[in-house]
Amino acid sequence: MDCCRSARRLGGEEVKVIVRSGFEEMKASPWEKEDAMHEGIPIINFHVPKAFVHEGGKLTGMTFEVVRAEYDAQGRRNLVPTGEPDPFFPCDEVLIAVGQENAFPWIERDSGIAFDRWGLPELHKTTFQSTVPNVFFGGDAALGPKNIITAVAHGHEAAISIDKLLHGEDVRVRPAPTANLMSQKMGIHEWSYHNETSPDERYAVPWAAAEKALASIRVEVELGFDAATAFKEAQRCLNCDVQTVFNQTACIECDACMDICPMDCISFTADGEEPDLRQRLKAPALNLAQDLYVSGELKTGRVMVKDEDVCLHCGLCAERCPTGAWDMQKFLFKSAMAGSGCRDKGAHKAQEAVA
Ligand code: SF4
Ligand code: SF4
Repeated sequence: MDCCRSARRLGGEEVKVIVRSGFEEMKASPWEKEDAMHEGIPIINFHVPKAFVHEGGKLTGMTFEVVRAEYDAQGRRNLVPTGEPDPFFPCDEVLIAVGQENAFPWIERDSGIAFDRWGLPELHKTTFQSTVPNVFFGGDAALGPKNIITAVAHGHEAAISIDKLLHGEDVRVRPAPTANLMSQKMGIHEWSYHNETSPDERYAVPWAAAEKALASIRVEVELGFDAATAFKEAQRCLNCDVQTVFNQTACIECDACMDICPMDCISFTADGEEPDLRQRLKAPALNLAQDLYVSGELKTGRVMVKDEDVCLHCGLCAERCPTGAWDMQKFLFKSAMAGSGCRDKGAHKAQEAVA
């Protein structure tokens, strides 16, 4: 998406993006696609590249095969030719964005580093150690293409492994992360975070005028919010780091939290098997990927069940609760880092061994 927009700025008069997959599955963020289309760049989907066409040693265009998506019983997608005639797109430049693959021909196969059938090094998935103990892999080179965040996380994990290896420790014994929850209560109805929920849609970032932005690659396109809009945008935050924490021993089962919750995500009901329980909640919990938060048995024999999937973190349940059984607590997770704290003999004691 960056390339097509840069091409427009570098003099490309008619720039198109032609993609194998459908619009929804394209490996680009929705806003990147919006931005490209906003600059007059059409996105043509379900076209598989077939041939570069040239005349007299000069590129004249490309032909594509038109396909449609079909899904098998396992949900795997196949791109099937539609049988339409192959369209030809005249052009004088082609920018290819087809992703990259790992290639390790430069590592001698007798070095002791084992490779799997996809040509990737055989690694321990937690330590990132290869079959040669002092060689580690990370990022796309380790387990295939992911993203920069994953690559950084691999780097931290490999650094812990290297630190432990150099100190003669078992690299498979991993240090635990630090995780804590801290109450945000400042008074009965007062929280240290702004808990009002905003129904506003995402505010669009103002842009420089298209004729100005397209005239030079040096013109900054996104102008940023003014202070008032930035504030409103920040108010849309769902405070996902603040959790509802339930203390069942303090609950007197008055049901007040269940009544006040604007999302109907709290239920007091008889316990049961999960599929049945999900249907019996005040609002059925249909997102199976989201676990239910279920308390132990309360005094009346019921359990408290919360469907976290729809919680707004508004804190109304905790404000309403007469006994403080609900609290809003900020969750902080810090992954372990290489250094003395990650070693068995350091301040941070060894945690569970990784199988
Ligand atoms: S924080 Fe708000 S939305 Fe979430 S359970 Fe409590 S009242 Fe319901
Ligand atoms: S408001 Fe508090 S005491 Fe009442 S049911 Fe909810 S958690 Fe229990």
